[in-house]
Amino acid sequence: MGVETKVMGMTSVDCQCCFCGLGIELKRPDPCELILATNFGSDEALRQRQGLFCHAVCLSQRMQASIAFSVIDREED
Ligand SMILES: [Zn+2]
Repeated sequence: MGVETKVMGMTSVDCQCCFCGLGIELKRPDPCELILATNFGSDEALRQRQGLFCHAVCLSQRMQASIAFSVIDREED
């Protein structure tokens, strides 16, 4: 199962939401990419990074309300 999208000139990008597991359609603001960096504050050589895709709504629903979050609109619950 994959979702064909066109992002910045790229095609055939398969995106699976890391929260709900479903495919992500290209519909603003989706897909979103979270960047996970391990060992924050350590030497750069010890750090590792991974990009994780998600739906904006899935991220918004899981973030604590007091966390500053300005790049997408939060869904009303
Ligand atoms: Zn999702």
